[in-house]
Amino acid sequence: MKAQLMAAVAASALLAGCSQANGGDEMASANTAALPAENAVPEATGYFAAESTLPFEAPDFSKISDDDYRPAFEQAMAIHSAEIDQIKNNPDAPTFENTIVALEQSGAILGRVARVFFALTGSNTNDTLNAVQTEMGPKLSAHSDAITLDPVLFARVKAVYDNRAAMSMTVEDAALLEDTYEGMVQAGAMLTAEQKDQVRAINTKLSEVTNEFGNRVREGTVASALIVDSEEELAGLSPAAIEAAAKLAAEKGMEGKYAIALQNTTQQPSLPALENRATREKLFRLSVDRNDQPGEYDTRMLIAEIAQLRAQKAALFGKPDWASYVMYDRMAKQPQTALDFMEQMVPALAATQRREAALLNEKIAAEGGDFEVKPWDWYRYAEKVKAEKYAFDESAVEPYFQLDKVLEDGVFFAAEKLYGLTFQKRTDLPVYHPDVSTYTVFDRDGSELGIFYFDPFQRPSKRGGAWMSNFVDQSYLNGTKPVIYNVLNIPKAAEGEVQLVSFDNVNTLFHEFGHALHGFFADQKYASISGTATARDFVEYPSQVNEVWATHPEILSNYAKHYETGETIPAELIEKIERAAKFNQGYDFGEVVEAALLDMKWHALSAEEAAAIKTPEDVDAFERNSLEELGLEIGLVPPRYRSSYFNHIFSSPTGYSSGYYSYLWTEMLDRDSRQWFMDNGGLTRENGDHYRATVLSRGGTMDYFKMFENFAGRQPDVTPMLVARGLTGDDSAADAATTSDGKLPANTVSK
Ligand SMILES: [Zn+2]
Repeated sequence: MKAQLMAAVAASALLAGCSQANGGDEMASANTAALPAENAVPEATGYFAAESTLPFEAPDFSKISDDDYRPAFEQAMAIHSAEIDQIKNNPDAPTFENTIVALEQSGAILGRVARVFFALTGSNTNDTLNAVQTEMGPKLSAHSDAITLDPVLFARVKAVYDNRAAMSMTVEDAALLEDTYEGMVQAGAMLTAEQKDQVRAINTKLSEVTNEFGNRVREGTVASALIVDSEEELAGLSPAAIEAAAKLAAEKGMEGKYAIALQNTTQQPSLPALENRATREKLFRLSVDRNDQPGEYDTRMLIAEIAQLRAQKAALFGKPDWASYVMYDRMAKQPQTALDFMEQMVPALAATQRREAALLNEKIAAEGGDFEVKPWDWYRYAEKVKAEKYAFDESAVEPYFQLDKVLEDGVFFAAEKLYGLTFQKRTDLPVYHPDVSTYTVFDRDGSELGIFYFDPFQRPSKRGGAWMSNFVDQSYLNGTKPVIYNVLNIPKAAEGEVQLVSFDNVNTLFHEFGHALHGFFADQKYASISGTATARDFVEYPSQVNEVWATHPEILSNYAKHYETGETIPAELIEKIERAAKFNQGYDFGEVVEAALLDMKWHALSAEEAAAIKTPEDVDAFERNSLEELGLEIGLVPPRYRSSYFNHIFSSPTGYSSGYYSYLWTEMLDRDSRQWFMDNGGLTRENGDHYRATVLSRGGTMDYFKMFENFAGRQPDVTPMLVARGLTGDDSAADAATTSDGKLPANTVSK
């Protein structure tokens, strides 16, 4: 049920989201009355009324028009509500079948509409679809709330749940029951009427305050643009950048001056190029002090209020803090687990930060500088050192990566080697854009496994980033096989030119197909816990693991061939990319760890502790103490987002709060799994089949630690991640440890 509702509420919750989180809130707190109850289920009409007659029930885009969605949503919600009423009004005593399974099967039409609709609003939207989305968002949210907070429905679910010890269930049945029950409890089904009122009041207040936070950050970021009087102060920037700066200043009513807009992160992209140290410092301070100074953009008291409201809400649910409340369905489960995980990296990280700073100071001195490195100098000198140590030219790499070869001879080839899959291009299925191609995926025994849609190119109607999701979920109950799409944003080559892709996009292709494999190997009865329907701190793990094969010699030699000469990419070139990626991790990785730690610290406060943060200075002190007590060099490496402009965690009621650590957590699982593959012979069918059996086919049906243990024979270990990040000591040690069987580790951060 959860996934069906979530799909309806916000498809992004279902997407295996691969871009950095943008603070979107998956469960808005609309609380309108339930839709009118009907006893009979209304008749469905229109395209979405029936299952698609195409192979695998793939959506028939030739038969869907933009005008279909609004009526389809309205009708599908009414039908879903009527189905829920039938479950509630069933005269028979509640059973697993007539309540839990019935709920799972309800809302089928709504799920069908939502999966297609939200796929298109992500990858091929237009004004009509955007208007439908704006209108339907609150309605879908209210529809979802009406079901999860229905006391009669919950009484039936609880009756089944309370009887679970006496029931005979499969592991998957038990997982579905647990998920359904926990989801409703989490929404507030167990609360008294008075407590529900309090939750509603907190939700409303949280919406207001977090919305205000987002507004102030947006406005404060604009207002904090760097303004300088002369071109000399911007020495080092390109003529085009200087021209843009003059134009921006003029737009701001400061003709003759120069303005540089701030980007959302603490570090600013212009800093490395700026030769004038005073300009660098000015720009950096504007960024790092954003929304943290007295005045109209100050967000500090909003942070204090958000922290307090969240802690109060958690307390109503009997939880000690907000993190404990929101992490109930994560792999890590407890805030302390995530904190311990991050804190164990701190000593190595702090040492690396100091080592890197020393290296940069050497470079500064060698150039005759009489200062020590500060955050505003960091990337300027890091780039210089990097260019000396690891010189390579990205444009020298691209000719080896042709898009169709990367996909068919690289990504698909790796899937064949590991899992025995084969692929056949189709031309018979309607697609939503001419650039989309489709493939039938065949399993190791030759049977059909599912359909793969591939939508690679950038276009104005597509949002940024890369992602994977399903048009049709795998489910034995529904008799459906997976229909999966990967969406990327590769710049399209000019007509008639060879379509080449960057190394970064090669990794993204392997990454997104890792999500697709997780979806294709789904082996579940129930759609809502099948495939990638897993925890936020787990779902990015299989996709990251798949990136390792992009640089495996056997795979590389099959796909990475120069488009003119046919020569396979030289190993030295790949090695250079890999080595360069390990450089500067004290900063790159450190700023992410610090942001993730800040997130957890703010959300580990009890209601009393949060209430003790009363002034803007208290907010600053809390932030500083949270990081300094761990021994991190925050004067040198400030967090990627300081609290005052940390949109991911403060700009919506839930957003990514207590979840920013997930990027690091899944990387730990990924790196440790790569180690397992290396230790067990690397690229073999045996290894692939084992990974499929223990992880990729398990969906969200079991405890994730148990799943990992079934795969690796032990609990996850952070060491391989630290090695891969070059955080274990000097360069040579890190290098030696990553090439145990001649394979080169992939290097990108998660997408
Ligand atoms: Zn991903």
